[in-house]
Amino acid sequence: MDTSGLKALVIDLDGTVYRGTTLIPGADEAISTLFEAYDLYFLTNNSTRSRKEFLHRLSELGISCAEQQLITSGYAAAKYIHDRYPERRVYVIGEQGLVDELREQHLTICEEDCDCVLVGLDKAFSYSKLHNALQFILQGAVFIATNTDPFLVTSTGIKPGAGAIVAAIETASGKHPIVTGKPSSFMRALILTMVNVQPHEILIVGDNLATDIRMGIEGGMKTALVLTGAATERDIASLAIRPEIVVDSLAELPQALRSLHTVK
Ligand SMILES: [Mg+2]
Repeated sequence: MDTSGLKALVIDLDGTVYRGTTLIPGADEAISTLFEAYDLYFLTNNSTRSRKEFLHRLSELGISCAEQQLITSGYAAAKYIHDRYPERRVYVIGEQGLVDELREQHLTICEEDCDCVLVGLDKAFSYSKLHNALQFILQGAVFIATNTDPFLVTSTGIKPGAGAIVAAIETASGKHPIVTGKPSSFMRALILTMVNVQPHEILIVGDNLATDIRMGIEGGMKTALVLTGAATERDIASLAIRPEIVVDSLAELPQALRSLHTVK
């Protein structure tokens, strides 16, 4: 792979920079090194926190970045609704971080006359919320999902992801959602707008083949897989399409990029 034209790195958070509340060893130093050579952006499908909360979390782990460098599925959903629905009335199944992100984009959170039903991960999801979502969708509200990740890997084991909640609403309503997070075409377009370079000048770095790597490949971007999260070496062996770079951890990425650049 020729890395000489690379201008920006878009780095996944969970499983790539940290796992749960723990920094992946050496990730902070690697980010400092990469920052000297590239524009850096951070990307997550986790919609339970606002971008401001993610900034705070990253700074606690010794990583400083600006809000414009953070791309979350909740922010993507807020942008999507803001740009398309002038009334911007949203029924939300999600956590406080998602509500905060929507309010930042001047959207109205409501329990009646909604234009959209937005669904993200909600640990207080209930039959009553499912019922509300179904009613609004049947009345014509647009069904939007922050992401459809089936599960999350946490420090205390595997837990159901937003996709499991989205599937309940899909089953009840018979409608498929518009998805704003990885690997959707909307997220790809948002990344290109925010990063503002050509697709082949972007390297997507992540631990998930189905979201990070798939989105990068489908978008004509370069891709790097880290083995500190969802994917294992065995997973890559069975794939028809492969990431251009595979490293054990983000800590090894600066060296891997340097050696590729030298070899070309
Ligand atoms: Mg990840």
